[in-house]
Amino acid sequence: QEGGAEGDHVAFYSQDMNQGMQERMRIETGLRHALSNGELLLHYQPKFEIASGRIIGAEALVRWRHPQRGLVPPAEFIPLAEATGLVVQVGEWVLEQACAQAQRWQQAGLAPVRLAVNVSAREFTASLPGRVQTTLQRYGLAPEWLELEITESTLMNNIERVIGIMDQIAALGVTLSLDDFGTGYSSLSYLKRFPIDTLKIDRSFTIGIPDDANDCAIANTIISIAQQLKHKVIAEGVETAEQLEFLRQSGCDEVQGYLFSRPLEADAFELAMCKNLAAEQGSRAA
Ligand code: C2E
Ligand code: MG
Ligand code: MG
Ligand code: MG
Repeated sequence: QEGGAEGDHVAFYSQDMNQGMQERMRIETGLRHALSNGELLLHYQPKFEIASGRIIGAEALVRWRHPQRGLVPPAEFIPLAEATGLVVQVGEWVLEQACAQAQRWQQAGLAPVRLAVNVSAREFTASLPGRVQTTLQRYGLAPEWLELEITESTLMNNIERVIGIMDQIAALGVTLSLDDFGTGYSSLSYLKRFPIDTLKIDRSFTIGIPDDANDCAIANTIISIAQQLKHKVIAEGVETAEQLEFLRQSGCDEVQGYLFSRPLEADAFELAMCKNLAAEQGSRAA
Protein backbone atom coordinates (compact mmCIF):
# COMPACT_ATOMS: atom_id res chain seq x y z
CA GLN A 1 0.00 0.00 0.00
CA GLU A 2 1.30 3.38 -0.98
CA GLY A 3 2.93 5.53 1.63
CA GLY A 4 1.88 3.13 4.35
CA ALA A 5 4.28 2.38 7.15
CA GLU A 6 3.11 -1.16 7.71
CA GLY A 7 4.50 -4.60 7.17
CA ASP A 8 7.45 -4.93 4.78
CA HIS A 9 7.35 -1.31 3.84
CA VAL A 10 8.61 -0.21 7.22
CA ALA A 11 12.14 -1.15 6.27
CA PHE A 12 11.97 1.22 3.33
CA TYR A 13 11.77 4.29 5.53
CA SER A 14 14.70 5.65 7.45
CA GLN A 15 14.28 5.86 11.18
CA ASP A 16 13.86 9.67 10.95
CA MET A 17 11.23 9.53 8.23
CA ASN A 18 9.35 6.93 10.14
CA GLN A 19 9.39 9.07 13.25
CA GLY A 20 8.35 12.11 11.25
CA MET A 21 5.40 10.21 9.84
CA GLN A 22 4.40 8.89 13.21
CA GLU A 23 4.52 12.43 14.57
CA ARG A 24 2.35 13.65 11.70
CA MET A 25 -0.16 10.90 12.20
CA ARG A 26 -0.24 11.61 15.91
CA ILE A 27 -0.97 15.31 15.27
CA GLU A 28 -3.57 14.48 12.62
CA THR A 29 -5.44 12.08 14.90
CA GLY A 30 -5.18 14.62 17.72
CA LEU A 31 -6.50 17.40 15.52
CA ARG A 32 -9.53 15.36 14.44
CA HIS A 33 -10.17 14.72 18.09
CA ALA A 34 -9.67 18.43 18.86
CA LEU A 35 -12.29 19.39 16.27
CA SER A 36 -14.94 17.09 17.68
CA ASN A 37 -13.99 17.75 21.31
CA GLY A 38 -14.01 21.52 21.28
CA GLU A 39 -10.27 21.94 21.87
CA LEU A 40 -9.87 24.66 19.24
CA LEU A 41 -10.39 28.31 20.12
CA LEU A 42 -9.96 31.69 18.52
CA HIS A 43 -7.95 34.68 19.66
CA TYR A 44 -8.64 38.12 18.25
CA GLN A 45 -5.93 40.61 17.37
CA PRO A 46 -7.14 44.20 16.95
CA LYS A 47 -6.34 46.14 13.80
CA PHE A 48 -5.82 49.89 14.22
CA GLU A 49 -6.35 52.78 11.87
CA ILE A 50 -3.17 54.89 12.02
CA ALA A 51 -4.89 58.25 11.45
CA SER A 52 -7.41 57.88 14.29
CA GLY A 53 -5.66 55.35 16.52
CA ARG A 54 -8.93 53.45 16.71
CA ILE A 55 -9.63 49.75 16.46
CA ILE A 56 -11.24 49.19 13.07
CA GLY A 57 -11.16 45.44 12.91
CA ALA A 58 -9.73 42.22 14.25
CA GLU A 59 -8.08 39.10 12.92
CA ALA A 60 -9.33 35.77 14.24
CA LEU A 61 -6.39 33.44 14.89
CA VAL A 62 -6.90 29.80 15.75
CA ARG A 63 -5.24 28.02 18.70
CA TRP A 64 -5.42 24.47 19.97
CA ARG A 65 -5.90 23.97 23.68
CA HIS A 66 -4.15 20.63 23.92
CA PRO A 67 -4.87 18.63 27.08
CA GLN A 68 -1.16 17.84 27.58
CA ARG A 69 0.72 20.40 25.55
CA GLY A 70 -1.25 23.51 26.52
CA LEU A 71 -1.98 26.25 24.01
CA VAL A 72 -0.54 25.14 20.66
CA PRO A 73 0.09 27.90 18.08
CA PRO A 74 -1.24 27.47 14.52
CA ALA A 75 2.27 27.19 13.05
CA GLU A 76 2.44 23.78 14.74
CA PHE A 77 -0.70 22.31 13.20
CA ILE A 78 -2.04 24.44 10.31
CA PRO A 79 0.71 23.38 7.83
CA LEU A 80 -0.04 19.73 8.62
CA ALA A 81 -3.78 20.35 8.40
CA GLU A 82 -3.15 21.90 5.00
CA ALA A 83 -1.14 18.90 3.84
CA THR A 84 -3.80 16.40 4.94
CA GLY A 85 -6.84 18.41 3.87
CA LEU A 86 -8.09 18.60 7.46
CA VAL A 87 -7.71 22.38 7.17
CA VAL A 88 -11.07 22.42 5.38
CA GLN A 89 -12.84 21.23 8.55
CA VAL A 90 -10.71 23.55 10.68
CA GLY A 91 -11.66 26.42 8.37
CA GLU A 92 -15.36 25.58 8.60
CA TRP A 93 -15.11 25.63 12.37
CA VAL A 94 -13.19 28.94 12.36
CA LEU A 95 -15.70 30.71 10.11
CA GLU A 96 -18.62 29.41 12.15
CA GLN A 97 -17.00 30.39 15.45
CA ALA A 98 -15.94 33.85 14.22
CA CYS A 99 -19.45 34.62 12.97
CA ALA A 100 -21.01 33.37 16.21
CA GLN A 101 -18.65 35.63 18.16
CA ALA A 102 -19.37 38.62 15.91
CA GLN A 103 -23.09 38.07 16.49
CA ARG A 104 -22.57 37.96 20.28
CA TRP A 105 -20.58 41.20 20.15
CA GLN A 106 -23.20 42.93 18.07
CA GLN A 107 -26.00 41.73 20.33
CA ALA A 108 -24.02 43.03 23.31
CA GLY A 109 -24.10 46.45 21.67
CA LEU A 110 -20.41 46.62 20.83
CA ALA A 111 -19.51 48.87 17.92
CA PRO A 112 -19.26 46.53 14.95
CA VAL A 113 -15.73 45.58 13.95
CA ARG A 114 -14.81 43.86 10.77
CA LEU A 115 -13.66 40.38 11.68
CA ALA A 116 -11.02 38.80 9.45
CA VAL A 117 -10.69 35.05 9.02
CA ASN A 118 -7.70 33.33 7.42
CA VAL A 119 -8.59 31.04 4.55
CA SER A 120 -6.19 28.39 3.23
CA ALA A 121 -5.72 27.61 -0.44
CA ARG A 122 -7.35 24.18 0.11
CA GLU A 123 -10.54 25.87 1.34
CA PHE A 124 -10.74 28.15 -1.66
CA THR A 125 -13.17 26.01 -3.63
CA ALA A 126 -16.40 26.57 -5.52
CA SER A 127 -18.42 25.81 -2.38
CA LEU A 128 -16.81 28.59 -0.31
CA PRO A 129 -18.97 31.56 -1.43
CA GLY A 130 -22.18 29.64 -0.64
CA ARG A 131 -20.86 28.52 2.73
CA VAL A 132 -19.87 32.09 3.60
CA GLN A 133 -23.30 33.36 2.59
CA THR A 134 -25.27 30.80 4.59
CA THR A 135 -23.06 31.27 7.65
CA LEU A 136 -23.58 35.05 7.55
CA GLN A 137 -27.33 34.52 7.20
CA ARG A 138 -27.44 32.02 10.05
CA TYR A 139 -25.92 34.61 12.41
CA GLY A 140 -27.77 37.58 10.96
CA LEU A 141 -24.53 39.33 10.05
CA ALA A 142 -24.13 41.98 7.38
CA PRO A 143 -21.44 40.89 4.91
CA GLU A 144 -19.32 44.01 5.34
CA TRP A 145 -18.34 42.84 8.82
CA LEU A 146 -16.55 39.80 7.48
CA GLU A 147 -13.18 39.81 5.80
CA LEU A 148 -11.32 36.85 4.36
CA GLU A 149 -7.52 36.89 4.35
CA ILE A 150 -5.99 34.84 1.58
CA THR A 151 -2.32 34.27 0.83
CA GLU A 152 -0.47 34.20 -2.43
CA SER A 153 -0.37 30.39 -2.33
CA THR A 154 -4.13 30.48 -3.00
CA LEU A 155 -3.44 32.45 -6.15
CA MET A 156 -0.94 29.91 -7.46
CA ASN A 157 -3.74 27.49 -8.21
CA ASN A 158 -5.86 27.79 -11.32
CA ILE A 159 -5.94 31.55 -11.43
CA GLU A 160 -9.10 32.02 -13.48
CA ARG A 161 -10.98 29.70 -11.17
CA VAL A 162 -9.66 31.54 -8.12
CA ILE A 163 -10.65 34.93 -9.56
CA GLY A 164 -14.14 33.55 -10.22
CA ILE A 165 -14.49 32.49 -6.58
CA MET A 166 -13.08 35.82 -5.36
CA ASP A 167 -15.60 37.68 -7.51
CA GLN A 168 -18.46 35.68 -6.00
CA ILE A 169 -17.26 36.41 -2.47
CA ALA A 170 -16.80 40.10 -3.25
CA ALA A 171 -20.28 40.19 -4.79
CA LEU A 172 -21.67 39.06 -1.43
CA GLY A 173 -20.19 42.22 0.07
CA VAL A 174 -17.50 40.35 1.99
CA THR A 175 -14.07 41.99 1.99
CA LEU A 176 -10.96 40.20 0.73
CA SER A 177 -7.39 40.94 1.71
CA LEU A 178 -4.08 39.60 0.47
CA ASP A 179 -2.13 38.29 3.47
CA ASP A 180 1.66 38.06 3.81
CA PHE A 181 1.92 40.12 0.65
CA GLY A 182 5.28 40.00 -1.06
CA THR A 183 6.46 36.73 0.49
CA GLY A 184 5.08 34.39 -2.12
CA TYR A 185 4.81 34.20 -5.82
CA SER A 186 3.74 37.74 -6.63
CA SER A 187 1.89 37.95 -9.89
CA LEU A 188 1.67 41.69 -10.29
CA SER A 189 -0.04 41.29 -13.64
CA TYR A 190 -2.98 39.62 -11.91
CA LEU A 191 -3.10 41.93 -8.93
CA LYS A 192 -5.25 44.43 -10.78
CA ARG A 193 -7.83 41.74 -11.51
CA PHE A 194 -8.33 40.61 -7.94
CA PRO A 195 -11.42 42.10 -6.26
CA ILE A 196 -9.47 42.79 -3.07
CA ASP A 197 -9.71 45.68 -0.61
CA THR A 198 -6.48 45.42 1.30
CA LEU A 199 -2.84 44.40 0.97
CA LYS A 200 -1.19 43.13 4.14
CA ILE A 201 2.53 43.86 4.46
CA ASP A 202 4.12 40.73 5.91
CA ARG A 203 5.82 40.81 9.29
CA SER A 204 9.10 39.73 7.69
CA PHE A 205 9.31 43.20 6.09
CA THR A 206 7.96 45.17 9.04
CA ILE A 207 10.65 43.61 11.21
CA GLY A 208 13.48 45.42 9.38
CA ILE A 209 11.90 48.89 9.55
CA PRO A 210 13.48 51.43 9.93
CA ASP A 211 17.08 50.11 9.95
CA ASP A 212 17.04 47.77 6.98
CA ALA A 213 16.97 49.84 3.79
CA ASN A 214 15.66 46.91 1.75
CA ASP A 215 12.72 46.24 4.05
CA CYS A 216 11.90 49.96 4.06
CA ALA A 217 12.01 50.02 0.27
CA ILE A 218 9.78 46.94 0.02
CA ALA A 219 7.26 48.35 2.49
CA ASN A 220 7.19 51.66 0.61
CA THR A 221 6.72 49.83 -2.67
CA ILE A 222 3.81 47.77 -1.34
CA ILE A 223 2.18 50.92 0.06
CA SER A 224 2.58 52.67 -3.26
CA ILE A 225 1.17 49.71 -5.22
CA ALA A 226 -1.81 49.62 -2.86
CA GLN A 227 -2.41 53.34 -3.20
CA GLN A 228 -2.26 53.26 -6.97
CA LEU A 229 -4.59 50.28 -7.20
CA LYS A 230 -6.93 52.04 -4.73
CA HIS A 231 -6.51 49.35 -2.10
CA LYS A 232 -6.00 49.86 1.59
CA VAL A 233 -2.74 48.72 3.13
CA ILE A 234 -2.05 47.31 6.59
CA ALA A 235 1.28 46.35 8.14
CA GLU A 236 1.41 43.30 10.39
CA GLY A 237 3.92 42.64 13.15
CA VAL A 238 4.36 46.27 14.23
CA GLU A 239 6.30 46.14 17.49
CA THR A 240 8.03 49.50 17.84
CA ALA A 241 7.12 53.19 17.79
CA GLU A 242 9.80 53.71 15.11
CA GLN A 243 8.09 51.22 12.82
CA LEU A 244 4.76 52.93 13.38
CA GLU A 245 6.26 56.36 12.61
CA PHE A 246 7.86 55.12 9.40
CA LEU A 247 4.61 53.51 8.27
CA ARG A 248 2.59 56.60 9.13
CA GLN A 249 4.90 58.80 7.09
CA SER A 250 4.84 56.32 4.23
CA GLY A 251 1.06 56.53 4.00
CA CYS A 252 0.17 53.13 5.43
CA ASP A 253 -3.50 53.04 6.51
CA GLU A 254 -3.61 50.47 9.27
CA VAL A 255 -1.40 48.51 11.63
CA GLN A 256 -1.56 45.32 13.61
CA GLY A 257 1.07 44.16 16.07
CA TYR A 258 2.33 43.70 19.60
CA LEU A 259 2.97 47.47 19.93
CA PHE A 260 -0.81 47.83 20.16
CA SER A 261 -2.03 44.44 21.21
CA ARG A 262 -1.28 40.76 21.08
CA PRO A 263 -4.06 38.43 19.94
CA LEU A 264 -6.61 38.43 22.79
CA GLU A 265 -9.19 36.08 24.20
CA ALA A 266 -12.74 37.09 23.30
CA ASP A 267 -13.42 38.70 26.71
CA ALA A 268 -10.22 40.73 26.64
CA PHE A 269 -10.96 41.87 23.11
CA GLU A 270 -14.40 43.00 24.22
CA LEU A 271 -12.81 45.05 26.98
CA ALA A 272 -10.41 46.64 24.48
CA MET A 273 -13.39 47.53 22.30
CA CYS A 274 -15.17 49.19 25.22
CA LYS A 275 -12.09 51.32 25.95
CA ASN A 276 -11.92 52.11 22.26
CA LEU A 277 -15.50 53.34 22.32
CA ALA A 278 -14.91 55.36 25.49
CA ALA A 279 -11.87 57.01 23.88
CA GLU A 280 -13.93 57.76 20.80
CA GLN A 281 -16.76 59.35 22.80
CA GLY A 282 -14.17 61.25 24.83
CA SER A 283 -12.56 62.70 21.74
CA ARG A 284 -15.95 63.63 20.29
CA ALA A 285 -16.94 65.41 23.50
CA ALA A 286 -13.63 67.28 23.60
P1 C2E B 1 -1.00 35.46 9.68
O1 C2E B 1 -2.35 35.32 9.11
O2 C2E B 1 -0.01 36.25 8.90
O3 C2E B 1 -1.23 36.08 11.13
C1 C2E B 1 -0.37 36.97 11.76
C2 C2E B 1 0.51 36.28 12.76
O4 C2E B 1 1.47 37.22 13.27
C3 C2E B 1 -0.22 35.75 13.99
O5 C2E B 1 0.46 34.59 14.45
C4 C2E B 1 -0.02 36.88 14.99
O6 C2E B 1 -0.16 36.47 16.32
C5 C2E B 1 1.39 37.27 14.68
N1 C2E B 1 1.70 38.63 15.07
C6 C2E B 1 0.91 39.71 15.01
N2 C2E B 1 1.55 40.82 15.44
C7 C2E B 1 2.78 40.41 15.79
C8 C2E B 1 3.93 41.09 16.32
O7 C2E B 1 3.93 42.29 16.55
N3 C2E B 1 5.04 40.33 16.56
C9 C2E B 1 5.07 38.99 16.34
N4 C2E B 1 6.19 38.33 16.61
N5 C2E B 1 4.01 38.32 15.82
C10 C2E B 1 2.89 39.02 15.56
P2 C2E B 1 -0.29 33.25 14.82
O8 C2E B 1 -1.56 33.55 15.53
O9 C2E B 1 0.69 32.35 15.49
O10 C2E B 1 -0.68 32.67 13.39
C11 C2E B 1 0.32 32.28 12.49
C12 C2E B 1 -0.27 31.93 11.14
O11 C2E B 1 -1.11 30.78 11.23
C13 C2E B 1 -1.14 33.02 10.55
O12 C2E B 1 -0.34 34.03 9.97
C14 C2E B 1 -1.92 32.22 9.54
O13 C2E B 1 -1.18 32.01 8.37
C15 C2E B 1 -2.10 30.89 10.25
N6 C2E B 1 -3.43 30.86 10.87
C16 C2E B 1 -3.83 31.33 12.07
N7 C2E B 1 -5.15 31.11 12.27
C17 C2E B 1 -5.60 30.50 11.15
C18 C2E B 1 -6.88 30.00 10.74
O14 C2E B 1 -7.90 30.12 11.43
N8 C2E B 1 -6.95 29.40 9.51
C19 C2E B 1 -5.84 29.28 8.71
N9 C2E B 1 -6.00 28.68 7.52
N10 C2E B 1 -4.65 29.73 9.06
C20 C2E B 1 -4.51 30.33 10.27
MG1 MG C 1 -3.75 36.59 8.39
MG1 MG D 1 -0.37 37.82 7.68
MG1 MG E 1 2.28 36.64 8.27
